[in-house]
Amino acid sequence: MESNAPDVSRRTILHWAVLAATTPVWWTLSGCATNPVTGESELMLVSRDQEISLDRQKSPHQLSADYGEIQNQELQRYIASVGQELAGRTHRPDMPYRFFPVNAVYANAYAFPGGTIAVTRGILLELDNEAELAALLGHELGHVNARHTAARMSTGVLLQGLLGGAGAVAASAGGGASAEALMQLGGLGAGALLAKYSRDDERQADALGMQYMVQTGYAPRGMVGLMDVLRGMSSRKPSVIDQMFSSHPMSEERYRTAVSRVQNEYQTGRQLALNRERYKDHLAPIRAMQEAIEAMQEGEKALGAENPDQAERSLRRALQAAPRDYTALVMMGKCRLLQDAPKDAERYFTHAREVYPQEPQAAHFLGITLLGQKEYDGAYEQFRWYEERLPGNPNTIFLQGLALEGAQRQQQAAEAYARFLQSGASGEQAQYARQRLQTWGYL
Ligand SMILES: [Zn+2]
Repeated sequence: MESNAPDVSRRTILHWAVLAATTPVWWTLSGCATNPVTGESELMLVSRDQEISLDRQKSPHQLSADYGEIQNQELQRYIASVGQELAGRTHRPDMPYRFFPVNAVYANAYAFPGGTIAVTRGILLELDNEAELAALLGHELGHVNARHTAARMSTGVLLQGLLGGAGAVAASAGGGASAEALMQLGGLGAGALLAKYSRDDERQADALGMQYMVQTGYAPRGMVGLMDVLRGMSSRKPSVIDQMFSSHPMSEERYRTAVSRVQNEYQTGRQLALNRERYKDHLAPIRAMQEAIEAMQEGEKALGAENPDQAERSLRRALQAAPRDYTALVMMGKCRLLQDAPKDAERYFTHAREVYPQEPQAAHFLGITLLGQKEYDGAYEQFRWYEERLPGNPNTIFLQGLALEGAQRQQQAAEAYARFLQSGASGEQAQYARQRLQTWGYL
C-alpha cells in the first residue's frame, strides 16, 4: 500500500507541520473613534466588537501555544481576582476581561485587544509581591485601554508584522523542521498575532498601569519592583526574557521613570499595600516547582539554539523533579521528535495528553508524530479532535488531508484539501493540495 501513501518524506511533513498558519487579518472601516484614554478622536478602523471577536478567535491559540492555563483553581482565581479589581478602575471597565496564568516557562505577559490577558509561570516566579503583579496586569490593561492593538491594525502595522513573522518562520524552517521553528510556533503560529507595540505604547501602558494599580490600593513602588525584575533578568537570564523584550523594550528607561513617579506624583501612595505574604502563599505551588521550571527554561533555550541533546539533559532533570508536568512532557516530545526518535516522542505526547486532556497542543504534536510513522488513522483522530477543540488553524486542516490520504480515504482527503484551499492558504502546502485535487479529478 506504500504507493498510495502521501508522496512526502517525514522531514517534509515536519516542515509543513511547523509552517505558520497565516489567517488573514480582516477589518471593515468604521472611521474615527474617540480614544477612551486620551478622549481625543483618532483614526480607528477597528470597532470594539471586532476587538473582542478577534481576541476570541486568536487568543485560544496563543494560550495553547503557551501550554494552556495552569491547572490550579486557587491560583486561577487569585490571578483573576487581582486582575478584575484593577479592570474595574480602568477607562474601559465594561470590556470582557479574562486573566490567565499559563504554563509557559519563558517570562512574559501579554494582552489581546478584547481583554484576554495572560501571565506565564516564568514571570510569576520572578515577582515578589501582589503590587508587582498588579503593576504587570495594570500595564497589560493599559495596552487594552489605550487600544494599542486596534490602533496598529488601523494603520496596517499589525498586518505587516504578521506577514513578516510568517515569512521569517517559513524561511527558518527551510527544507526540514528546524528546532527554532518548532519552538517558536509550538506548532500553532498564533504568536505572530500579538502586536509589536511602539516605545510610546509601552510608556503609555506603564503610566496607565501605575494609575490603575494605585487607584486599586496598591503601593506604586510595585511598579518599581516590576521594572527592577525586568532589568535584572535582562542581565541574569537574557534567553528567558528575550521574548519579553521584543514586546517590552527599554527596561532601564522604564525603571527610572517608575522611580521618579514614586518620588513625585505618587509620593502619597507610600502606605498602600504590597501584599507580599498573600502573593507568596498563592504562588507556593509554582515556587515549589522552581527547579523544574528552571530546567525547562534551559531546555527551551537549548532547543532554540538547535541543540536537542543538551535540551534532552535539561528536560530529563525537569521531568525528574516534576514527572507529570504537561509543559515538560510536551517539550521532551518535541525534543525527541527533533532527535528523530518518534516512538519515544509518541510516548511523551501521549503521556502529556493524559495529564492535561483538555489542552490541545499535545494532540497536534501527537498527530504529527503518528503521521511521520505512517499511522494515518491515529494521526487523523488527533488532528480532528484538535480542530474541534481549537478551530481556525488551516495547518491542521491540511494535516488532516495528509492523514486521510495516507489512510486511503480519498474522498475525505479531497474534502480536507478543498477546505484547506478555501481558507485562503498559499505556499507549498496549497500547491500540494491543489495538485492532489487535480490528480484525483476534483479540479
Ligand atoms: Zn507592553
